[in-house]
Amino acid sequence: MKPLVNEFTWSVSRNGLFQECRRAYYYQYYGSWNGWDAGAPERTRRIYLLKNLKTLDMWGGTIVHDTIAEALRRYAIKAAPITAGELQATARQKLRAGWLEAVNGEWRTSPKKTNLAELYYGNGATLPPEQTERIKAKIYDCLRAFAESALLKQIQAATYLAWQPVDKLDSFLLDETKVWCAVDFAYTDPAGALRIIDWKTGGENEDALQLQLACYAFFAADKWRAKLENLRVYGVFLRDNAREKEYPLTPEILIEARERMLQSAAGMRGFLRSPLANEPLPEEEFPLCTRERTCARCNFRELCPGAPKAPAAAPAQV
Ligand code: SF4
Repeated sequence: MKPLVNEFTWSVSRNGLFQECRRAYYYQYYGSWNGWDAGAPERTRRIYLLKNLKTLDMWGGTIVHDTIAEALRRYAIKAAPITAGELQATARQKLRAGWLEAVNGEWRTSPKKTNLAELYYGNGATLPPEQTERIKAKIYDCLRAFAESALLKQIQAATYLAWQPVDKLDSFLLDETKVWCAVDFAYTDPAGALRIIDWKTGGENEDALQLQLACYAFFAADKWRAKLENLRVYGVFLRDNAREKEYPLTPEILIEARERMLQSAAGMRGFLRSPLANEPLPEEEFPLCTRERTCARCNFRELCPGAPKAPAAAPAQV
């Protein structure tokens, strides 16, 4: 098998971390590289392990997205009904399986297995019931809202042939830069418009979502040859009873989004010693964040010199 190459790419989440903390960005995209290899240096292995930590909210969001994607797939293949009860039962299984992975420490040997930040930086075995109940209730609420939504009825009313094959990581080129994105769902409505949907399990961040949806529009134009004037993009806020909000895609918005993406990529390349080889500057050249609140919830706080000196709890043993 050919060795993996750490090529330079861009994504909305990569941009988010780059804006938040340059040092965390370094750990996530460079320091962790090759950490999946059992023979990698101990520190690289550790950074890779931390990179794969998930907060309870991130974990919950993944469970909701996966459960919805699986249900839509089953519906497409055998018209399996989509009900809140069945979605919640599937999510319950995922919650149990993930929780066992986390508390049994399966991530020690397989870092991609569920590893919850709150447990890892806590006692490794338990969390206050109000935290676990909160996340369970959030997941169940989101799935109920999805199952009962008008949007689901519209999706089911469209024939499967009108659905786009989505929900997997894919990429397109923006100028010379490879851009990753994973569209949640897309289908052609009865009026012939291609609708792109982004399920949200958290609150609404208009700026970030506008950039995300513009990115999907570029992807649709590149991969599906969609005409931009024929695209409609939506955020669907599952916590808010599956409230749908359409975001505009005017030429001005798309030009601005493109500029932001290219400028962000240029900023990232500014931290490369060799842009051709995607070789970063030394770790110390990536500034530390100065916002304590950001450090307090950062995956890398265990090893970062910029993290608060007295963490709330000792890290779990690995
Ligand atoms: S602990 Fe703070 S400074 Fe260090 S990587 Fe995390 S956010 Fe950045």
